[in-house]
Amino acid sequence: MIILVINCGSSSVKYQLLDMESDEKYTLRAKGIVEKIGLPEGKLTHKPVGKQPLVRTLPIPDHKVGMKLVLDALVDPDCGVLEKLSDIDAVGHRIVQGAEFFSSSALVDDDVLRKIELCSDFAPLHNPANLLGIRAIENVLPGVPQAATFDTAFHQTMEAVSYLYALPYKYYEQYRIRRYGAHGTSHQYVSQRGIRFAGLDPDNSRVITCHIGNGSSVTAVRNGKCVDTSMGFTPLEGMIMGTRCGSIDASIVPYIMKKEGLTPDEMTAMMNKQSGFLGLSGLTSDMRDMCTLAGQGNERAALVLRKVVLDIAKLVGAYIAEMNGVDLIVFTAGIAENNPWLRRDVCAHFSYMGVRIDDAVNDAAREETMISAPDSRVKVAMIPTDEELVIARDTMHLVAGK
Ligand code: ADP
Repeated sequence: MIILVINCGSSSVKYQLLDMESDEKYTLRAKGIVEKIGLPEGKLTHKPVGKQPLVRTLPIPDHKVGMKLVLDALVDPDCGVLEKLSDIDAVGHRIVQGAEFFSSSALVDDDVLRKIELCSDFAPLHNPANLLGIRAIENVLPGVPQAATFDTAFHQTMEAVSYLYALPYKYYEQYRIRRYGAHGTSHQYVSQRGIRFAGLDPDNSRVITCHIGNGSSVTAVRNGKCVDTSMGFTPLEGMIMGTRCGSIDASIVPYIMKKEGLTPDEMTAMMNKQSGFLGLSGLTSDMRDMCTLAGQGNERAALVLRKVVLDIAKLVGAYIAEMNGVDLIVFTAGIAENNPWLRRDVCAHFSYMGVRIDDAVNDAAREETMISAPDSRVKVAMIPTDEELVIARDTMHLVAGK
């Protein structure tokens, strides 16, 4: 089954075309990104497997035009990977917020569209863009089944004791204010792979997954189900991130708003876009640049590197307590996959309980690797995440079972 996976942002469309034979047997045919939709200089970067990439710079007024460019590239005589568009059997979309409506992926129909729209209130920047992607596909590939995979679905197994805030209960009842988490597709994928890779009993396992990228979250997974996660009502909660502040004392919010005369939207934007690595260092939100700056003796960059490690360690420690132990710790996403020092420094906080890293193996890890030493009391793995594969699998199952 040929599945197009779409991750639609407000000004970008990321895509992958996967040929799925089964959950385990699949081939990536192409991937790419459309950027700067709505700006004067739009860009398509199409990377077919085994062929020359295609880069086109042109104005891309809206998502429909962007999606049409992607489809044209997929059947292009030179850089295409399909004979005809009707070879696409289904399309799977990443949807950021599914709230309490969705605890698993769903085939798109009018009811699902309505619920995704209702969830836009919680994810005003993301869900409307995700919907644009679904509508654009309806337009350019009419009749092709579409499925939606939700970033929040995996976290729906959390119990009220973990997902409720200690605010008056009426706000949960009236506005559904609670913790939803994010990156669920990634946490689900790496926890399942980790359980198999480490040879754990899926029904008797305690796993902590650390998704550390531009956005970062840590999740506690007991017997394959999420019991707690560090992101909350929105992805702003939890640890320090590229441009997000993570958890802060809520009193700071009205205090700064009053002092600086900021509107709620301006304050929200500051905490999401100007804080975190960028806010603390004053220089960059990018981990590679941060490492370079710290290496050059920049003290605030060095502080950021220490803070990210400490924040992860505090979450991992909390989840060990919550699950009364841990069998496996997994590191994934851009930062945790590519920075062995970070994995080492986080694990050093747990040497008291017998966590030991094999430094040579850890330093050399480029793909799925068990980085703990043979005598470590807890297994530790680096597992590259693959959210697109989860979306393609779910889409395949939903369409096949239709
Ligand atoms: P997103 O949340 O946008 O998907 P990623 O998971 O791609 O983010 O992570 C982006 C972060 O990973 C950036 O801070 C980047 O500097 C870091 N990163 C990516 N590749 C490397 C690398 N080779 N070495 C160090 N850091 C890296």
